Amino acid sequence: MTAVCPSCSLADRTVPVPAALRDRDVPLDKPDRGLLDVPPEPVGRSGVSTGLLLLAAFSSLWTVRAVLTLVRSGSAATAGQVVATVVVATVMAGSYWASSALRRAADRRQAAKGGWPASSEQWKLVHRVWQAAWLCRNCRAAFLPAGALGPGFPASGPLSFEHFRDWLTGTARQAEQLGGFAPADRKPAAPAAPAA
Ligand SMILES: [Zn+2]
Repeated sequence: MTAVCPSCSLADRTVPVPAALRDRDVPLDKPDRGLLDVPPEPVGRSGVSTGLLLLAAFSSLWTVRAVLTLVRSGSAATAGQVVATVVVATVMAGSYWASSALRRAADRRQAAKGGWPASSEQWKLVHRVWQAAWLCRNCRAAFLPAGALGPGFPASGPLSFEHFRDWLTGTARQAEQLGGFAPADRKPAAPAAPAA
């Protein structure tokens, strides 16, 4: 696939942005690499939050085992078995609740900083736009060819490398508001069967 540069109208020096960043034969300058690389994915979970989630997962297994033991014991269940079941169930619920609360607090802090993308889902939209973007080595412009993000998705104008990341996040935010992109791999409708 080739793409025509919207700035100089040439197609022989255009290349997808991810390929240009990987290209060792014609490497980009370091400052340009910084301007064109995909923004880092936001850190979704702290280590503590992940540890609590693991604890919740393990204690849910203990809870199932303890409940099964109780059921098998029936009326012969000891008070100790009942207490043990309640304790592991409490640990499970508590650790899950604490993990969720920590993650929500981290999301709120990220949102309060005004950072976007703030979640992994939002970052995936940014990454999708970045993967579809091209650049022109002739006139140092980045651009999005028509239809690169799905059928009918409009082409962008030429973008300076300096504005590339703002454009990435702006386009991804728009897509988020519209509920995502049209699937790029959507096949065109099958042609109607020829009339007999
Ligand atoms: Zn160009």
